[in-house]
Amino acid sequence: MRRKMTIHEAALAVVRHLRQNGHEAYWAGGSVRDMLLNRDPEDIDVATEAPPERIIELFSRTRKVGAKFGVVMVQQGTHWIETATFRTDTDYQDGRRPVSVEFTTAEHDAQRRDFTINGLFYDPIEEKVIDYVGGQSDLDAGVIRAIGDPGQRFAEDHLRMLRAVRFATRFGFEIEPATAEAIGQQAGKITRISPERIHEELEKMLGHRSRAKAVEEIARHGLLEHLWPGSHWPADRLQRALGVIGALPEDVDFVSVMAALLHELSVDVAKKICRELRCSNRQIDDTGWLIENRNRFDEAKSMSLAEFKKLLAHPRADDLLALYKAICESQNKSLDVYVAVGQRRDSIPPAEVAPLPLVTGEDLIELGLEPGPQFKQILDKLYDAQLNNELITRRQAIEQMKTYINRQH
Ligand code: ATP
Ligand code: MG
Repeated sequence: MRRKMTIHEAALAVVRHLRQNGHEAYWAGGSVRDMLLNRDPEDIDVATEAPPERIIELFSRTRKVGAKFGVVMVQQGTHWIETATFRTDTDYQDGRRPVSVEFTTAEHDAQRRDFTINGLFYDPIEEKVIDYVGGQSDLDAGVIRAIGDPGQRFAEDHLRMLRAVRFATRFGFEIEPATAEAIGQQAGKITRISPERIHEELEKMLGHRSRAKAVEEIARHGLLEHLWPGSHWPADRLQRALGVIGALPEDVDFVSVMAALLHELSVDVAKKICRELRCSNRQIDDTGWLIENRNRFDEAKSMSLAEFKKLLAHPRADDLLALYKAICESQNKSLDVYVAVGQRRDSIPPAEVAPLPLVTGEDLIELGLEPGPQFKQILDKLYDAQLNNELITRRQAIEQMKTYINRQH
């Protein structure tokens, strides 16, 4: 059996084939940056002088994604390599993405990119970095610097302000003074960016373990106050939110972090914010559930087994426990309750957390009850009794059911 092609081999094959057909081509952008930082890039993008029609002609399996923007996906083995024609972006409208592009040289393509560390090319055949923008020295020095005039670059596309903070915090870099100053001046313009793009950026930012620093920095640069309508952060509330975010485990996802960030707000307000940010319905509900139940474990000792199991049955139960712990830790509260909750959870066999009900509505019908509102009441009571280990067998449940029915008459 043939070994699976690596992403490097796939991206190298694309460059080689373009070169053999007379077209300048390199690896480009974030993937070069990641490679030079010794981080495995998730994907490797290719930039080439060949126009889209030519790319499509040269490779057997291609897919256009934004032919207008000169981007073609090229399949190599199991990988799809984003292959883009060198371009300059023109016609930025209202601080958003460009509405049209012109095909151009590698040097101009480097100059339309946002930060110097993102503006590098790599020639994988000669194994050489090609640097038109001083990206390599900024990478070595740990600096985020806008390419060209920072004020102008942030005016073209306001999302770049958030990206600057994301890259700085992810890599532990400094935003150089002129770039930082331009962000400070234009921070308010971030409101013109579509919530979808802000959401996408936030998912990346909050999904990374540098998330607490990232939130702190977007606040310090004046961006957090503008991320959604009514975003308002008194210093002490922000500090508490940062404390909780920082105390979360490293590998938590976006929803847990949103819950930590918004945990002092009402469930309704938090869900409204998630909706404004175009979160999915699942994300909105889960964030709301985490916030609503964040203190529930405080009463874990007095909580019935049924109530406890119902909390554990939720797909976000582990995240709730992690959030509870993070809140306790950030407030320097004892972790005794947290530990006790964990022990109580471990004492319950997994199959008993959310077992199939011993009895159903059909049993009620069989016993002669007409379907109605009392159906759910009876079944809920029986299920609680089952979760409390008061009813073990189906026969016991049916007997109990009969007494409930008799009581109704
Ligand atoms: P990551 O994938 O980790 O977010 P990245 O640098 O690969 O980082 P992408 O959004 O995948 O970021 O974009 C790839 C490259 O395209 C960037 O490295 C940069 O050169 C360029 N780019 C992306 N977004 C912008 C933008 N808003 N303005 C200018 N250039 C951009
Ligand atoms: Mg990328």
